[in-house]
Amino acid sequence: MSRVYNFSAGPSMLPESVLKKAAAEMLDCQGSGMSVMEMSHRSKDYEVIIEGAEALFRELMGIPDCYKVLFLQGGASTQFAMIPMNLFTNSKKMDTILTGQWAKKAASEAKKYGSVNILGSSEDQVFNYIPKVDPASFSPDADYFHITYNNTIYGTKFNTLPETGNVPLVADISSCVLSEAMDVSKFGLLYAGAQKNIGPAGLTVVIIRDDLIGKADASVPTMLNYQTHSDNGSMYNTPPTYSIYVCKLVLEWLKEMGGVSAIEKINREKAKILYDFLDESSMFRGTVVPEDRSLMNVPFVTGDDELNAKFIKEAKAAGFVNLKGHRSVGGMRASIYNAMPTEGVVKLVEFMKQFECDNK
Ligand SMILES: *Cc1c(COP(=O)(O)O)cnc(C)c1O
Repeated sequence: MSRVYNFSAGPSMLPESVLKKAAAEMLDCQGSGMSVMEMSHRSKDYEVIIEGAEALFRELMGIPDCYKVLFLQGGASTQFAMIPMNLFTNSKKMDTILTGQWAKKAASEAKKYGSVNILGSSEDQVFNYIPKVDPASFSPDADYFHITYNNTIYGTKFNTLPETGNVPLVADISSCVLSEAMDVSKFGLLYAGAQKNIGPAGLTVVIIRDDLIGKADASVPTMLNYQTHSDNGSMYNTPPTYSIYVCKLVLEWLKEMGGVSAIEKINREKAKILYDFLDESSMFRGTVVPEDRSLMNVPFVTGDDELNAKFIKEAKAAGFVNLKGHRSVGGMRASIYNAMPTEGVVKLVEFMKQFECDNK
């Protein structure tokens, strides 16, 4: 068996030790005589798993007690609608900055329920920077302010958060959750699809401040009301049980690594290795302005479509897979989430150097 270095943007690689543990427990999890997939979500054995996952989230992210951690389904994309359905309770106004496709989708869903005030957009430069916005243009009466914290497709991230005062800041952290320290108390709501940095697809994690729960209109469907899930410990219906179990294994792995501050240090090293090479290379270059570069998703190009294709093909043959960039940016993208070891990035850069020499 040989494992590849998987640079996929999502679903993406998981720590090998997590996969091995899941495999070892496949037929008999913790003496239960069954797989987690076969367990009742109401059983004592399963209670330990979901409660353990929540406790680890709280510990690793430093989530204050006045926030709920919800384990939902439907992906980050369902949150684009669920957030306005629950948070549009007064002015029905959302402030936002358009930093890519996910931000645009969140805005267009919100528009179905209220008004959207776009404070800035980087679409003019294929979203390769985070627009500067003037706080004087913020709506003081907005029900919430939405950002995509890390832009998976374009490789940008917010290094400074907008100061929204009393307006709850809501952030899509699908591709940067648990990758670096984050002050949860600065946000009203955080959400993430699991398949980038948490575990298998099928699970969506929502971290929501208590005061934002329970104000949704009576017409909001039961399953799309945060109160339903908050009141029932994410067990109103059957939660994505196996995905939550793997998520718990990933969080245990992260805790053993030293937690978020330890992985942040590693993530910064990994990103620096790749960006330093892109900055010095005469063949490859990063597409994002240096001050807004993501730690997780690194798009790069050669400037020649044929050479890009040759690179992706040869990289794949050498065991570096899923390096093709998103169709809207072209070129390449290396997603280097928590589970990507430093060694994977070092070897990728060695491969890129060799490719550059061979194709001068
Ligand atoms: C992947 C991704 C999404 C979409 O997530 P789904 O779980 O597929 O709905 C949304 N936002 C960001 C930032 C993403 O990276």
